Amino acid sequence: MSGAGGPRPGAEGLSDAASIASRVRSGELRAADVAEQVLGDVESRDAELHCFNLVTGEAMRAAAAEVDRLVATGADPGPLAGVPVALKDNLCTKGVPTTCSSRMLEGWSPPYDATVVRRLVAAGALVVGKTNLDEFAMGSSTENSAFGPTRNPWDTGRVPGGSSGGSAAAVAAGFAALALGSDTGGSIRQPAALCGVVGIKPTYGLVSRYGLVAFASSLDQVGPFATTVADAALLLETIAGHDEMDSTSLGGPVPRLTEALRSGVDGLRVGVVRDFLADASADCVAAVRNGADVLSRAGASVEDVALPELLHGLSAYYLIAPAEASSNLARYDGVRYGLRVDGEDVEQMNARTRAAGFGPEVRRRIMLGTYVLSAGYYDAYYAQAQRVRTLVARAFARAYEHVDVLLAPTAPSVAFPLGAKTEDPLEMYLADLFTIPSNLAGHPAMSVPFALDGQGLPVGVQVLAPALGEVAMLRAGVALESGATPGARGPVRPGAVV
Ligand code: GLN
Repeated sequence: MSGAGGPRPGAEGLSDAASIASRVRSGELRAADVAEQVLGDVESRDAELHCFNLVTGEAMRAAAAEVDRLVATGADPGPLAGVPVALKDNLCTKGVPTTCSSRMLEGWSPPYDATVVRRLVAAGALVVGKTNLDEFAMGSSTENSAFGPTRNPWDTGRVPGGSSGGSAAAVAAGFAALALGSDTGGSIRQPAALCGVVGIKPTYGLVSRYGLVAFASSLDQVGPFATTVADAALLLETIAGHDEMDSTSLGGPVPRLTEALRSGVDGLRVGVVRDFLADASADCVAAVRNGADVLSRAGASVEDVALPELLHGLSAYYLIAPAEASSNLARYDGVRYGLRVDGEDVEQMNARTRAAGFGPEVRRRIMLGTYVLSAGYYDAYYAQAQRVRTLVARAFARAYEHVDVLLAPTAPSVAFPLGAKTEDPLEMYLADLFTIPSNLAGHPAMSVPFALDGQGLPVGVQVLAPALGEVAMLRAGVALESGATPGARGPVRPGAVV
């Protein structure tokens, strides 16, 4: 409808999903212009950052044209109309390579879309492409990708966190207003913290995992990245809800998440996880203490809570997750998916394929997992880890008798330099010390960008809640966001975003 020669409203200056969608829905902004702006930006800047394994530009343009067509005919283009989203490359996309950043899946394209992808597309979102990750989501820095690391947009000498580092960095760089990741032990929240964006791990079962390539099935959840808490809630509302294709999917209604955003925190009971503070950097501790003050000034009651059991979560996780991974990854046998390296017989073909297809961290996990499940070691390791998992869940239950949400650092430190932890797997594992307990318990948790450290790097604060406690979690998240240091959240180059 823009008149010949008249100024057409540009796509510049937008950053959040809610305003992009509302401008596209009203016809003020064309989805096609959003797509061109994003694709141009990715083209010029992603060579350095490597957020994307694959950019699906033609499909994005086609989706944008369809949204614009619906708007022009007066039809409803959906709540996320014209909003660019990035998908972690362990989410299945029909006919589009899904690599898990592994050589193992070379040449493989899934025959179906993940349920979350279908729901996004139905909501009018524009998929930009598939984002880089630690191979099969195993890692905390995105350096375990077979295709090379992603760099942190705040400082390209540093990691973006992981394993959903490509998704977090894509949002922080302004390549997408929203992204999806997966979180098995912290892979959404930790990169969100290191990249200065919002990240949510939902309650286990709230979001369908149909089409998420499995890592550790009792822990995996899909969840959102966004630049604002409101956008993250909007995305979560879009993807949440029962799916008959996922047997672990919860029934029942989805909590009214976006309504939580206006409720405030008056009367909310907040506990600070005291036991985490000794293991976090001074900047991360200060952010939690200041965050608690923000909540208290906004009307919440705040107390310190002793939860020493949570610190044992890490050891339990590194037995349980590898055990489940060793079972889930057994399907990559050279026959059914991707890579095959021939051998004299089937066994040799299997072995050669796995040796060539899996990187060192994935092999380490498979060997660890096979070991802890083997006869003679099962009771000492795997069964013991399950008992610790129960202790963690009980500790949380005890705390939630007195408080509605818990506050903690998301990560022990800000983004670390590339290569700083690659030689020492245990150092890398410790990056998830504060995120893992929520996965073990199946609880929701989110990271909110809250402060900047002395070097100008983002610091996240984590809000934890009991199962299906997303509403209380988001109430606290919004209050934290409103008290955050200006400039503590992405996009990093204002104006570079759509
Ligand atoms: N960093 C943890 C690991 O390496 C968590 C990974 C994840 O949440 N996918 O297992």
